[in-house]
Amino acid sequence: MGPGKISGPVTPPKVDVFIPPKEITSSSPAKAAAFAALRARALSCVKCPHLVASRTTVVFGVGNIDAQLMFVGEAPGADEDEQGEPFVGRAGQLLTKIIQATGLSRSDVYIANILKCRPDTPGQSAGNRPPTPEERATCIPFLQEQIDLIKPKAIVALGATAVDGLLGKAPGITKLRGQWQTYRSIPLMPTYHPAYLLRNQSLSEKRKVWEDLLQVMEKLELPITEKQQNYFLKV
Ligand code: URA
Repeated sequence: MGPGKISGPVTPPKVDVFIPPKEITSSSPAKAAAFAALRARALSCVKCPHLVASRTTVVFGVGNIDAQLMFVGEAPGADEDEQGEPFVGRAGQLLTKIIQATGLSRSDVYIANILKCRPDTPGQSAGNRPPTPEERATCIPFLQEQIDLIKPKAIVALGATAVDGLLGKAPGITKLRGQWQTYRSIPLMPTYHPAYLLRNQSLSEKRKVWEDLLQVMEKLELPITEKQQNYFLKV
């Protein structure tokens, strides 16, 4: 073999699975174009080499870019990494039900995460881990740009990572949930992550999240029926 030749098997460069984007539409073509450009930038991001090596897809976000309401979670899990869409696993199915209980659908709102790549778990075949402060700091600018373009009327931050990520060192989700905060001049409602509700099935915890959502519905001036008012109240 001559100089400069490579011997042995060559590992091909890793390529993310390509999932065609759902159409990005908006009443403003300029906004749709800016959003598509932002998505393209996020999808080609290689700032966290360890996550680039482990990810299947970059989970940018999904929904209506003209939405009044935006949900922000922590980071993709295994299902989201595989499908390229946030909140499609068990916690996601619960989030979908919560959204539907307000009378909205997933396509009425916008859903994104603090981190766009699944946190790697070297040496583990299953399980998740929260994003590190460095990973969060690296990725959050994408989320900020998403929020700045969407300009929702309210944001629901799901769980401690989303609340800390958006508000900085916050006093903790248990203290903050149910109390309006502000993020870049937008009202932000901290509430529990749906994964917490899957672990803790008590009616009282479900009611807390529902009360937080009722506040959001009031803020957005969505109609609230008596039935909705009374969800998860003991009979
Ligand atoms: N949990 C999150 O925080 N985000 C997802 O997309 C899925 C689960």
